[in-house]
Amino acid sequence: MFEAPASPYLVPFDGSFRIADASTTAVTDGHHHQGTHRKTATDHLRQLQRVLAAGDRHAVLLVFQAMDAAGKDSTIRAVMRGVDPSGCQVYSFKKPSSKDLDHDFLWRTTRCLPERGRIGIFNRSHYEEVLVVRVHPQILASQKLPGEVNLETIWDERLKSIREQEEHLARNGTVILKFFLNVSRDEQKRRFLARLDDPNKMWKFEPRDVVERRHWDDYMHAYEEALNATSRPWAPWYSIPADNKRYMRARVAEVLIATLRSIGLRYPEPSAEDLEEFAEARRELEGQESAQ
Ligand code: ATP
Ligand code: MG
Repeated sequence: MFEAPASPYLVPFDGSFRIADASTTAVTDGHHHQGTHRKTATDHLRQLQRVLAAGDRHAVLLVFQAMDAAGKDSTIRAVMRGVDPSGCQVYSFKKPSSKDLDHDFLWRTTRCLPERGRIGIFNRSHYEEVLVVRVHPQILASQKLPGEVNLETIWDERLKSIREQEEHLARNGTVILKFFLNVSRDEQKRRFLARLDDPNKMWKFEPRDVVERRHWDDYMHAYEEALNATSRPWAPWYSIPADNKRYMRARVAEVLIATLRSIGLRYPEPSAEDLEEFAEARRELEGQESAQ
């Protein structure tokens, strides 16, 4: 299984992550962020993805979670720009459908997992089940769970299911990277107001987002619990400062590139038999007269 690339934003695996101490702006504690040029990062990513696809051994799953207006969509756009569209897939998870609710809570995301050779992106994910649902436990009533729901134990049980599923996927070749885009409450307010001020951004404004904002502390608690329970070397979380979008996107791209470099991607090597067949094909092609 792959090992999470080091980063000041890697969420430790021992449960010691404290969201109150996690930075929403660049950390400059001696760690120098040179910041790969965006175009260079895009070129690297495009090249790595070609080998990923040709090798057909690993799948890559990127999970994005964040409070509203943190910049999930624009980060996904920026990081994946230039990558062959046939090699990646993006799924956005909103409120579950009635069909989704007829299944266990991991079903709808499991169906959307990337195949080997591809990069799959989850814009929101199975983690909503321990975030929005934890903040609003009344949602559980719509989930058709059998028997009494025990609110004391259900979140740990769900986190255990998620952790175990991710470990299973990692053992079988899915490389999982999870990004919490950590925007501050003040910056969120500024972005909401900017949406209200700019006629071209108004369409993005949702009054419901302001209602969710009232539950900020509950969300932070749910995020802290979820990240601590599920950040593991084979499925790490990165808590990326999100108040500066350019900085955020560069850090996400860096982690992705470092990961793809670390898993030993290679073009498949032809076998002796393949080489014989190729030589045969070459003889045949070269022996053919060109049509004039
Ligand atoms: P954008 O606003 O940029 O279009 P979004 O991801 O915020 O993107 P919305 O349609 O605004 O999309 O919101 C989707 C909503 O669905 C979020 O409030 C999210 O918490 C909710 N949601 C996602 N998964 C679940 C779930 N499993 N159960 C209940 N609500 C969920
Ligand atoms: Mg929204």
